[in-house]
Amino acid sequence: MEIFKQIAPLQAYLSNQKQSGNKIGLVPTMGALHDGHLTLVKASKEQHCITVCSIFVNPTQFNNPEDLKKYPRSLDKDIELLQKVECDVLFCPDEAEIYPIATALSFDFGDLERVMEGKFRPGHFSGVGIVVSKLFNIVQPDHAFFGQKDWQQFAIVKRLVSDLSFSLTLHSVEIARERDGLAMSSRNQRLSVSERKNAVAFYTALSLAKQAHKQGKSVQELNAIVEQCIGEFPSIQLEYFEVADRSNLSSLNLVTDPSQAIMCIAGYAGEVRLIDNMFLD
Ligand code: AMP
Repeated sequence: MEIFKQIAPLQAYLSNQKQSGNKIGLVPTMGALHDGHLTLVKASKEQHCITVCSIFVNPTQFNNPEDLKKYPRSLDKDIELLQKVECDVLFCPDEAEIYPIATALSFDFGDLERVMEGKFRPGHFSGVGIVVSKLFNIVQPDHAFFGQKDWQQFAIVKRLVSDLSFSLTLHSVEIARERDGLAMSSRNQRLSVSERKNAVAFYTALSLAKQAHKQGKSVQELNAIVEQCIGEFPSIQLEYFEVADRSNLSSLNLVTDPSQAIMCIAGYAGEVRLIDNMFLD
């Protein structure tokens, strides 16, 4: 695997690859890699792309400085994992390479960011928009891979690609879960043993809600089921549960087309903030 910390040699390498007729696939991450990230790398390899995984803990997307400070970092282990799945390139710049001067840019994705993560993490998606645009400009990928786990992020990146006319194909990759159903996340490393055990609450609540929907229960009833379920797990706190339209993320009070609906959930296990989601069909 080629490892680059700087933009210029990365671009020289990628330009050679493109001249040889290879397609480039980009997997943007913040590191502390797990199998969820690796499924994105595998998806890129399946498209026969020279696969670039970026690892950059992007300060502009953290609205909480403590969260940024505590974000897990494990570059040596990440390199080993990427080598195992035969990732071609790792781009792991430091902050000065990406932000030589503090950026004055900001993005506003309108209604897409007034809900859910955007509502609870002001400025988060502006930071995501900035770093994703920078990575797209630096790498100029033909394909880019994002996880379904961050569904709102995917919807926003889709909009970014359209609004700024990036010429690439976006892919959303299914959520990788632990054996008990907990969505894999770098943040899971910060959970205590009992918090880890109880963190399955989010998946359990989503599964119960999906089952209830299939039995004809209303969105209001799904809300009550989720609240009750989460309440049964010690040290777990619900921040929001939303049934939303998959494309425009607007809140749904009535599900007319389950194939267009998604349930999104966020909350805390102890002090660790976790998110998850599930399609309704
Ligand atoms: P992060 O490092 O958390 O910024 O995530 C980098 C990419 O990996 C994002 O596109 C995430 O949606 C994706 N990702 C994170 N967790 C999972 C998971 N459990 N399954 C699939 N993709 C994931």
